[in-house]
Amino acid sequence: MPRRLPLFHLRPLVLAIVVLACLATLGNVLYVAYRVQHDALVHFSLQTNLAYANKVASSIDEFLRSAQSRLHYSATQLGQHFDDASLLQTQAKLLQAQDEDFNSIVIMGADGQVRVAYPDIAQVASHSHHSPQLQQALAAQRPTISPAYTSRGNNLVVLVAEPVFARDGRFLGIVAGSVFLKKDSGLHTAIAAHYTQDGTFAFVADANRRLLYHPDATRIGAKASGSPTIEAALRGENGTLAAPNYIGIPMLSGFAPVTDAHWAVVAQQPREHALAPLRELTRKVLLYILPASVLGLLLMLWMTYRLTLPLRQLADSALRIAAGEPAEPLHRVDAWYAEAAAIRSALLAGERLLQERFGKLRQQAESDALTGLANRRVLQAALDELMDSDRQFAVLALDIDHFKRVNDTYGHDAGDEVLQHLAELLRRSARQQDLPCRVGGEEFTLLLADTGLDDARQIAERIREAVEMADTPHVGKLTLSIGVACRQADTALAETLLKQADEQLYKAKQNGRNRVEVLV
Ligand code: GH3
Ligand code: MG
Ligand code: MG
Repeated sequence: MPRRLPLFHLRPLVLAIVVLACLATLGNVLYVAYRVQHDALVHFSLQTNLAYANKVASSIDEFLRSAQSRLHYSATQLGQHFDDASLLQTQAKLLQAQDEDFNSIVIMGADGQVRVAYPDIAQVASHSHHSPQLQQALAAQRPTISPAYTSRGNNLVVLVAEPVFARDGRFLGIVAGSVFLKKDSGLHTAIAAHYTQDGTFAFVADANRRLLYHPDATRIGAKASGSPTIEAALRGENGTLAAPNYIGIPMLSGFAPVTDAHWAVVAQQPREHALAPLRELTRKVLLYILPASVLGLLLMLWMTYRLTLPLRQLADSALRIAAGEPAEPLHRVDAWYAEAAAIRSALLAGERLLQERFGKLRQQAESDALTGLANRRVLQAALDELMDSDRQFAVLALDIDHFKRVNDTYGHDAGDEVLQHLAELLRRSARQQDLPCRVGGEEFTLLLADTGLDDARQIAERIREAVEMADTPHVGKLTLSIGVACRQADTALAETLLKQADEQLYKAKQNGRNRVEVLV
């Protein structure tokens, strides 16, 4: 019972390992490429948004400073002639007309009385002294920028104010300009002018967390409390943050403060937009990596095939040898590396050893003990083989003449020696394809493969002559009678042929011995 072999074979095992290693490497490369690109894109978006927020903040700063400096210039002018109503009127007109920064101008005395309101005199004049922003600016007696508030005309407004001092330093009042945030003001332009793309946008909030600017106009004026970016910018910090926005959409943000106004600027991009190129990048990496991977895999498959082939052939041979079947010719195994070569040479040595041992046993089983010639069993097997093929062959039946006399005269041992001598002679006269056998006491058969009638007759004649000429031990002269039969087209059984040869031998004895008779 052969021992059960393990279920796994080397080639699928190696293949599995190779494929797994390839996939793992590919996966790793893709993951690393993805991670690196992902981090780079996030970093880039954060830095871009920070730069964007800083730019917007400095634009606002610039805008407010220029507004303040214009108001300051007017304030110096007004300080000299604060009582001149027409000059106040002209200054207000001038300020408003100079550019579109100010939607309206108010000049207010230290007593809280509006001296000039331009252009909407009726509206501003009647209500402005109730406006807390004007009151606060008046009370501050220094340059101020108010938080956003909704004006009478339902506009979102910030108030930029400058104090007016007399030459002697006496506080006379304020000159203030309002900027409508929802309209096309200069401030609006300063913020919106920045180019935005890929979903990037900026918004501005004041100290009360009120949105002064937002690309979604409906959100302007709304409160944005709890935003970590606005809070950080209002603390005067600038930096970046990756966090979800107020409705939970992940955002990549940069933030910066507008120091003078105490406002916050946030520029942000939805994370998804920032990472959009990642899909394309991953596709490209795959595209570039795949052909090389497929090539590498094919190479590995080929290498695996080359590596495992000799081992598989050697294993097949080993199994066959173990099962006693004829092994694949081991010499044909291309053992191209040291281990396979070592196994092959071990198998060859084993096979040789086995063959030698088997050979000895077979020789013992198949040969005649006295002469060493093949016995009847081998003859039978050889005949069967020839009968199975289409090959031509002849059978010679040989019998020593008057052998009894040899035994009687010189003794049985001398007879044996004569038999051995004859066997040796037969062996020497046999060709490669012939099989000399001892089939009985002093009867021999010579099987002549691939031999026709004429050749068989000649060979028989030559043997007869050789025996007759030879100097046989003890007896000196010895003769043989030989019967010859050849395979015919109608020969169905090997036994028939043996019988025919025997009949010819009998005929030779009858016809006087020391002769050859052939069945024609
Ligand atoms: P023929 O010419 O008619 O063949 O005469 P023969 O004396 O040879 O007659 P046969 O073939 O019948 O005799 C066979 C003899 O061979 C009988 C036996 O004594 C002898 N013999 C058989 N086997 C052996 C053997 O192993 N050793 C010896 N020494 N003699 C054997
Ligand atoms: Mg005989
Ligand atoms: Mg005889």
